[in-house]
Parts: sequence; structure tokens; C-alpha cells
Amino acid sequence: MPARILDGLASAARVQAQVAAAVDARRAAGRPQPGLAMVVLGDEAGSQAYLRSKRAACAAAGIASFDVELPAATPQRALEELVAQLNADPRVHGIIVQLPLPAGLDEERVLAAISLEKDVDGFHPVNIGRLAMKGRQPLFVPCTPAGCLALLEDAGATFRGARAVVLGRSNIVGLPAALLLLQRDATVTVCHSRSADLPAICRTADILIAAVGRPEMVKADWVKPGAYVIDVGVNLAPGGGERLVGDVAFDEVKEVAGAITPVPGGVGSLTVAMLLRNTLRAAELADAAAQGA
Ligand code: NDP
Repeated sequence: MPARILDGLASAARVQAQVAAAVDARRAAGRPQPGLAMVVLGDEAGSQAYLRSKRAACAAAGIASFDVELPAATPQRALEELVAQLNADPRVHGIIVQLPLPAGLDEERVLAAISLEKDVDGFHPVNIGRLAMKGRQPLFVPCTPAGCLALLEDAGATFRGARAVVLGRSNIVGLPAALLLLQRDATVTVCHSRSADLPAICRTADILIAAVGRPEMVKADWVKPGAYVIDVGVNLAPGGGERLVGDVAFDEVKEVAGAITPVPGGVGSLTVAMLLRNTLRAAELADAAAQGA
């Protein structure tokens, strides 16, 4: 039986509507409008597209955008000073700095400079560290991995005791996705470019998250019948043109999997929705801090 297609657009629309309603309620109660600042260095097409979709989603949810576009040659100190200004700006509740940074900039220093309470991307070393530690909770969870988990939850996946395989170990997707699955008591295997016999490892997975950036790498015979397959990859289809494909060979894998995300229309739609949710949370944390002050 062909897999259930997990509709990322519908899940994202639900989250965005919840955030918009909560923002309306805040403003009706006289609390400040949530604000999100995005810092983009250089004019890379992918970053510009993300900036546009983030701006539109913020506007639709009633969240203010404070975006800063800088040249790729911006010095480290100027970038850190900008982050310090945004940290101090009470209109800004969330700050994201688009990664990867241009060569020569120290990513860890920039991420560590973002106030923990405004780290809506969840990439601050303390937030990632808490995610990795048993019994600790980060203030924010990275948006794309959170989107993967939200899709699995919406689909009714069982985590406890499930075997999960994550393809990819990046700081942005693979590693935090694996940590989130571990938090939910799955038994997690993380694979990367040096892993041996990927098909055999993937075939053990009740839950398979692919985040490698290799077009249609995961084939039907890599997938356990009935598995949940979450495809994070966004790649240009081989052979030229503008068509996008994931890391999973969708047409063949959907005949084996129990549930699968499409590309586009899957995980990508959830990333911005999770960013809005994190920004709302940051505004709520700021309210609580102001009340405690
Ligand atoms: P990275 O390039 O940072 O990481 C890729 C990971 O995949 C690495 O851990 C790498 O291993 C591993 N890998 C690469 N090739 C292979 C291979 N042949 N076999 C096994 N493992 C391999 O990518 P990201 O994590 O940033 O992104 C992954 C994909 O997700 C991309 O297509 C990206 O466009 C997409 N993406 C989508 C988002 C969305 O919102 N939908 C958001 C972010 C990313 P090693 O560590 O050994 O190098």
C-alpha cells in the first residue's frame, strides 16, 4: 500500500494560525508585538529566498520584522556589535543570523553573542548543550529539526522504543534532530559521509530522517516497510532545470514507507512556522522577565 503523504503545508498552516491567534490575544491585552530580527550577510539566493518567506510569514502572523542585510565582507567585530544592539533592543524578541557565515567569520562567537533569551534558532552553544544533556531543556529548539518532530507527531508516530536513523550530523539539522529523537526515548543511530553500509542501517529504521543534501540518495530498498520517512533535503534535480527534489527517491520510497514527506511541501514549510512559534515564546519569556523585574 502506498505511503501516507505528510502534508507539511497543512501542518505549517495550523502552527501559523495558532501563533497568529496568540499574537492577536497579546496585542489585545496590551502586551508588546513580538519582533524578529534576521541578519543576512551577502546576497546568496537561498538566504534571500528564506528572508522573503520569513518576512511574509511574520507579516501574516502579526510579528514585526527587523531585518539587516550586510555585505559578505562585514568584519567580525561589526557583526558582533550589531548582535549586541539587537540584544539590547526591546522591540526585538528573536534574533537569527543566517548560516553559513561567509568565510573568515567565526560562527561560534557570533552565535554565542546572541542573547540566550533571543536565540530563536536554538543554535546558541548553551541551548544546543542543554538539548544534548539528560534532564535539561533548551529555551529554544532548532526550527528544522523541530519541524521534523512536529510532522512525526502529527502523523501519530511512536517514539519510545522506536529505532530511528538520522542521515546527516550537521549542527543545524542532523545532530539536533537526533537529540530530539533521543529525548523522546527513540533508539537513535546517526549516519554521516563516513558511515559504512548505509542501506543496511537505514533498513533498521522505524523512523528515518534524511538530511544529507544528496538528491534522491535514499532508495526504496533502504527503507523498512511501513517506516516513517522524513525528507529534509532540498536539492536541484539531477539533469539541470529548477525542479527541486529531496534526499529520498520519493516515487519509489512512497511504495514502501508507511508515511513520507514530499519535497517541496514537507519539512521546509514547517521551518518558518517553528521560527514564528519560537519568536512568540521569546516574547512570552520577555513578558515574564519584565514582570519579575
Ligand atoms: P550539511 O552539508 O551541513 O550536512 C550534511 C550531512 O550529511 C553531513 O553530516 C554529511 O556528513 C552528511 N553526508 C553528506 N553526504 C553523505 C553521504 N553520501 N552519505 C552519508 N552522509 C552524507 O547539510 P545540512 O544539514 O545543512 O542540510 C542537509 C540538507 O537539508 C540540504 O539538502 C539542505 O538544503 C536541507 N535543509 C533543508 C531545510 C529545510 O527547511 N527544509 C533547512 C536546512 C537544510 P559529514 O558530517 O561526514 O560531512
